Amino acid sequence: MTVTGPVDVNQLGFTLMHEHVLISASGLMKSYPALLGPDPETRAINALKESKAHGIQTMVDATTFDLGREPELLARVSAKSGVNLVNVTGWWLDVPRFMWGVGVNQMAREFVRDIEEGFRGTGVRAGILKCAADFEGVTAPLETMARAVARAHVKTGLRIMVHSYPTGQLARRQIQIFREEGVDLTRVKIDHSNDTTDLEYLQWILDQGCYLGLDRYPGRLVSPKQRTNTLYALMKLGYGDRLCPSHDCICLHIHNEQADGTLPEKHDFQRSNPDGWLYMHRQVIPQLQSMGASDVQIQNLFVDNPRRFFGG
Ligand SMILES: [Zn+2]
Repeated sequence: MTVTGPVDVNQLGFTLMHEHVLISASGLMKSYPALLGPDPETRAINALKESKAHGIQTMVDATTFDLGREPELLARVSAKSGVNLVNVTGWWLDVPRFMWGVGVNQMAREFVRDIEEGFRGTGVRAGILKCAADFEGVTAPLETMARAVARAHVKTGLRIMVHSYPTGQLARRQIQIFREEGVDLTRVKIDHSNDTTDLEYLQWILDQGCYLGLDRYPGRLVSPKQRTNTLYALMKLGYGDRLCPSHDCICLHIHNEQADGTLPEKHDFQRSNPDGWLYMHRQVIPQLQSMGASDVQIQNLFVDNPRRFFGG
């Protein structure tokens, strides 16, 4: 299910499995739109059109409600650029006051409505679920959301992407919660996994049946070259059919004022990755080829694995 309606998994084509057209906060675009800089919608359409011209046909947009999801904006930029966008329901890391004490089944019902009926007041439906935890571990409110996401998955069969924290080997706890909830682990993708080079830990996740999101490029903590070494090492170990490289690249983000009071033309993330969504084509794929990866192996990563994940 994309933001413009259902698409056959065989038509997804070259797919980036973890990206963001927009990241802000829930309601920000209505209340403080100027923070997003000049003419955000046109900038998103242009960036998506450029991606499409380089062969990127589909992106999973990982922006949940608490990251400022704007379903109708996504539907418009998808229609105008021709790039399929799959949007998430579920939760990222923000913990607003209501989350202390909200029920697991109560949230699961809301997520199921996002999947079956659509985001309220729009015709746009969620195509994937997401939950998250980071360096503080799976805290009580985030565990509520993880279990609600798991129950919405059990009810609908929708796939789950998981914001994880590999430095703390957090997927061990997240997978344990999924097991308790009866989640099919072959329908789970553990994301941000290339923030570590610990092959033993990554193989453990893959051996549970999960997909691996190697979705931070160029990223911090680990150099881009080391990320590609890890990716290729896992391919050589025989896991090439469950690896999903992507950027976690943000097109529209808050433009922070500079010290002299002026607004920069590009936000911080764009300045750290001038290639944006084309980083994979310009940097990573050529590097994989120079290491010995075949065209079939590369097609596997970007076309076959997303198809298998959504359709398998
Ligand atoms: Zn992300």
